[in-house]
Amino acid sequence: MNILPRSIKAFQRIGEENALTVLARSVELAAQGRDIINLGVGQPDFNTPEHIVEAAVKALRDGHHGYTPYNGILPLREAVARRTLFTTGTEISPDNVMIMPGGKVTMFAAIMMMGEPGGEILYPDPGFPIYRSMIEFSGAKPVPVPITHANNFSFNAEQTLSQINENTRLVIINSPANPSGGVAPRGEIAALVKGLESLPHVAILSDEIYDTIIYDGHKHVSLLEFPSIRDQLIVLNGWSKTWAMTGWRLGWSVWPDHLCDDIRKLALNGWSCVNASAQYAGIAAIDGPQDDVQSMLAAFDHRRGRIVELLNRLPGITCSIPKGAFYVFPDIRQTGWKARELASRLLEESGVAIVGGPDFGILGEGNVRLSYANSIENIERAVGRIGKFLSR
Ligand code: PLP
Repeated sequence: MNILPRSIKAFQRIGEENALTVLARSVELAAQGRDIINLGVGQPDFNTPEHIVEAAVKALRDGHHGYTPYNGILPLREAVARRTLFTTGTEISPDNVMIMPGGKVTMFAAIMMMGEPGGEILYPDPGFPIYRSMIEFSGAKPVPVPITHANNFSFNAEQTLSQINENTRLVIINSPANPSGGVAPRGEIAALVKGLESLPHVAILSDEIYDTIIYDGHKHVSLLEFPSIRDQLIVLNGWSKTWAMTGWRLGWSVWPDHLCDDIRKLALNGWSCVNASAQYAGIAAIDGPQDDVQSMLAAFDHRRGRIVELLNRLPGITCSIPKGAFYVFPDIRQTGWKARELASRLLEESGVAIVGGPDFGILGEGNVRLSYANSIENIERAVGRIGKFLSR
């Protein structure tokens, strides 16, 4: 008999992140000599700014080779606190900041901390697929909160609050959002906060990983701006998207006082600490010049306009302009294709990698996600190929 993990049922409930599966298939096809344009994966196509790389190299040369405190080095946690004050106007203590090996690990930690059989966790649908996967793993019941085009790809506060009951343990929100690029308006966030402040048994995970990637002069609204829910609130953020550092595996989160010991213990047991040189790079990212971040943002903004314009010219496709992140989530229902089938056929036959909406939840059917973290030239070639495919 094979050795089985003890909680085999829980492991069978773990899902996948199909954007990464699409990436793997794209690499495979490219290795066979195919010309693949990847609009599937959600990561900036820019290199990490040079001064950040240099700070990591210097840290290694200076001998930062050992373990660090498991919640992260103090100067980095202080830098996160400074940035939080700058971006949200909210003072936080470096003691409430945890340095994590990427944004995803905060998601894992918060969901495993709050989720248990009998409990319920609300999450956005369509949304980042790992939310639901980890909720299932924890044994809690996943309760999808609809994110609809009709609601500008935001949650509706009243509806979200109506889905909460005495078993609800955690509410996950994500703005700017993956996969839709939706940005929740301040009024909606304030209404949700108003409801949640009288439900102290419900924790909140606010995934703010795309906080910088927001357009048209909109300002990101952080849940940290609402002191009344601070005891319930876990904020997920990190370096991956803003500073083009997905491969560095560096993230941060902000935790309420009463959960700090638990998360520190989880870190101690799970990963000891984050790579020391990456932590020094993280300080340089926050404290150094932000010109590269501004240039990346300008490039994303330009590509956003172009991809929306090109997609709307295609038969059967309707694409609204997203307010944040670097994804478009067009409606493809009029093409007659099912989203996953279209994505798979486009990759195999036309060499364009995109992700089907259902990979982000049941409510994603009828849409596909395209990442415009790619050059204008590739975006134009990719949409050209999609057009040819659709008119066959
Ligand atoms: N949250 C959302 C909404 C994301 O889209 C992603 C990555 O795509 C993450 C979190 C994870 O970020 P990281 O790469 O830092 O783990």
